[in-house]
Amino acid sequence: MKIKLSEKCPKCGCQDKTIKRSLDPVHHAHATTGAVTCTKCGYVFKSRRDEEDKE
Ligand SMILES: [Zn+2]
Repeated sequence: MKIKLSEKCPKCGCQDKTIKRSLDPVHHAHATTGAVTCTKCGYVFKSRRDEEDKE
């Protein structure tokens, strides 16, 4: 499922988003875990794990 970056936050209606990425150096995971969060209120939209190669 893709995230539309123009999608409004259901909580506050803000369209600004932050894509979070975190590597896991402890477990040497190759994949990053990403999440799209609302810049304003921090609402988490979805995991972007399936799209992590697209930047
Ligand atoms: Zn929000």
